[in-house]
Amino acid sequence: MNIHEYQAKELFRKEGIPTPKGKVAFTVDEAVAAAKELGSSVSVVKAQIHAGGRGKGGGVKVAKSLDEVRQYASQILGMQLVTHQTGPEGKEVKKVLIEEGSAIEKELYLSMILDRDTSSLAFIASTEGGMDIEEVSAKTPEKIHTIYVDPSVGFMPYHGRKLANAYQFTDPKHQKQIAILGEKLYNFYLKYDCSLVEINPLIINKAGDLLSLDAKLNFEDNALYRHPEITELRDLNEETPGEIEASKYELAYISLDGEIGCMVNGAGLAMATLDIIKLAGGSPANFLDVGGGASKEKVQAAFKIILSDPKVRAIMVNIFGGIMKCDIIAEGIVAAAKEMNLKVPLVVRLQGTNVEQGKQILANSKLAIIPADDLKDAAEKAVAAAKGAK
Ligand code: ADP
Ligand code: MG
Repeated sequence: MNIHEYQAKELFRKEGIPTPKGKVAFTVDEAVAAAKELGSSVSVVKAQIHAGGRGKGGGVKVAKSLDEVRQYASQILGMQLVTHQTGPEGKEVKKVLIEEGSAIEKELYLSMILDRDTSSLAFIASTEGGMDIEEVSAKTPEKIHTIYVDPSVGFMPYHGRKLANAYQFTDPKHQKQIAILGEKLYNFYLKYDCSLVEINPLIINKAGDLLSLDAKLNFEDNALYRHPEITELRDLNEETPGEIEASKYELAYISLDGEIGCMVNGAGLAMATLDIIKLAGGSPANFLDVGGGASKEKVQAAFKIILSDPKVRAIMVNIFGGIMKCDIIAEGIVAAAKEMNLKVPLVVRLQGTNVEQGKQILANSKLAIIPADDLKDAAEKAVAAAKGAK
């Protein structure tokens, strides 16, 4: 799960991680009032959407007067903000963060992730802050430093020194502050079951203090039950209706921009299905993993989500029945197809446990289902069907 910058910064403040003062605003008047209340000579108007690269896209503006706050807030609120992370259609801005302007001396990069290869938590530090870290990593990989923390040992003073070295800090004040920040972030990451904490940029201001100017947090969905206060921060405006519906049924669903709806069990098979659709000359409308232990209701819900996407010209079901039985899948498909008055072609490839019963259920349903023998055959048939349905 993702949250907004302003929410992330509130959590940072609560845990003593230094960040500028700020307030969220939903209207232009609220934005001006927030800037007045902050009372700083410079304030920054920042679009709040679940995507980075807002600065480059025109979603972060520095205002030197209340008039400028008004001007920028009216520009940004309601705009369709396009960044490299939103896709070409952009995202509508429904709120802005009004923040005190910081005098920036230097912009740095700091993040924390779980490193599966070493089974440890990793800090990623770079002197090249404020830019796209992917670009830094591609062009100047030597400027990215990874510092691993073994969770059975925890954050130690030497991790702090390693961070200070990564930033080439010579000033004892910076060395001390980064060690404190590192430890706080480490504890933060564990306390809230994060999957990513990213501060880009972490700045040194003119007073020589470290400050988190941006904040991006991702939380591990499987641990959300332990954090009702975090679950409350979820913003449904940032999710598509399909994604909201899918999360109710614990389906892993991501909408994509193609025309072939996919229903698959297992993330690996789902990825392979997307690839093979591309290979066959089509384009997937979604990623959807119904999971191992799906019920008929879950399959039905998945099917409805796919069908509610108007881009879908054909559906490809690719199920490998293991824990999940083919007859259950077939029942779900038939029930949903009847209820939804299915009009698009449906290609089904079933394999595994109870496959014969499953095929029988589909055949008895009198639905115009196109059976497929294997993955390649299914993809080709789905692509052909989608083209024919256009
Ligand atoms: P994004 O990563 O989405 O572009 P950021 O929060 O990183 O958004 O802001 C982009 C840039 O705007 C920062 O790199 C920084 O230079 C500037 N900026 C952001 N917040 C402030 C602030 N409070 N004071 C001064 N400059 C800021
Ligand atoms: Mg940023």
